[in-house]
Amino acid sequence: MRVLLSNDDGVNAPGLAALAAAFPEDEVWVVAPDREQSASSHAISLHRPLRIVQVGERRFSVDGTPTDAVYLALNHVMRGHAPDLVLSGVNHGPNLGNDVLYSGTVAAAMEGALLGVSAIAVSLAARPPHDFAPAAAFAAELARSVAAFPRPKPILLNVNVPAGPVKGFRFTRLGVRTYGNEVIEKQDPRGRSYFWIGGDASHRDIPLSDCNTVLDEGLVAVTPLHLDLTHDGLFAGLVDLAVSGFRKEPPP
Ligand code: MN
Repeated sequence: MRVLLSNDDGVNAPGLAALAAAFPEDEVWVVAPDREQSASSHAISLHRPLRIVQVGERRFSVDGTPTDAVYLALNHVMRGHAPDLVLSGVNHGPNLGNDVLYSGTVAAAMEGALLGVSAIAVSLAARPPHDFAPAAAFAAELARSVAAFPRPKPILLNVNVPAGPVKGFRFTRLGVRTYGNEVIEKQDPRGRSYFWIGGDASHRDIPLSDCNTVLDEGLVAVTPLHLDLTHDGLFAGLVDLAVSGFRKEPPP
């Protein structure tokens, strides 16, 4: 198997090294940001140049976002050597529920899927000191199963692994996780205000969600994602919504 590994914690992150070590028999390529880019979401650098530095055999750093790294990997660095799968991680911390909207780890996997390659984002839902080996081992076996799975590609999965040995896994839905809507205001040395946003995370109690599965039951959560954000139910219901003074095209 040929795999592309990336992340949002930077090319030298221990989580990425653990993931690479979980593929000893495979052709592993690493193309990752040159520094931490956590919570960078799906940003792409369209308005500045990007540099690629080779840092080892089939190992490259990019001075951009996780999306930039995967885009450059699939469209340039690995041209003619398309991977069977993209893996992003192992992230240093969880990406549960609505975290997927902010996560650079998940965005790197999404970019792989957008470019037609099945992809897995894997995150360790634990506090430091981190032992990434169990999460990396699970991700590597899942990668083999996904590569061989007879379903239309690309498949996109978001995986969260709790601390310690893997007790088991469940296929889940995204839960709902919030950061307390906190805003902490401080004064800088010149007397101007600055703000820290986001507080302690908590999750809504939704049985079989990724949050409950990982945080309450201590199991690995594997959530299938798709990239079409269209709300089908609301789309159907909007047949009754009018905008005064404007003609609405009838449905086809
Ligand atoms: Mn990260």
